[in-house]
Amino acid sequence: MNDCIFCKILKKEIPSAKIYENDKIYAFLDINPVNPGHTLVVPKKHYEHLEDIPDELLAELITAVKKITAAVKEALGTDNFNLGLNNGRLAGQLVPHVHFHIIPRFEKDGYKHWEGKPYKEGQMEQVQKSIAKYLE
Ligand code: 5GP
Ligand code: ZN
Repeated sequence: MNDCIFCKILKKEIPSAKIYENDKIYAFLDINPVNPGHTLVVPKKHYEHLEDIPDELLAELITAVKKITAAVKEALGTDNFNLGLNNGRLAGQLVPHVHFHIIPRFEKDGYKHWEGKPYKEGQMEQVQKSIAKYLE
């Protein structure tokens, strides 16, 4: 996708603070970090959503994410991080090039856990069945 900002970063048309790359994967600092060290990990090939990525590449991607989280933890001096992937517009995906967020977390960094909301009576069982049938 020509107008994809991450493809432009990958083509070096836009600068980025690279922290890791191999032949298929690129990792760089988020320009507007949740916390310092907030890192984005992307496949070099453009895919929009998680489910578009071939399984073999996804395995390599998550393995790279694991390796990079270890470096981020060491460098930022914390054992805590959130791993995120905003998949689709309603989930907050702004850049349509699939990317993992590695967000180091610190004591009193000001962020709260998501608040849950309870199921209605009978809803949990109904949702459970409706999802599970696609996995039989
Ligand atoms: P999304 O909401 O799509 O999951 O996250 C997109 C992320 O990309 C945001 O956290 C945003 O700060 C980051 N971002 C957007 N444009 C650029 C850019 O040009 N360079 C870098 N390094 N990060 C960007
Ligand atoms: Zn792209």
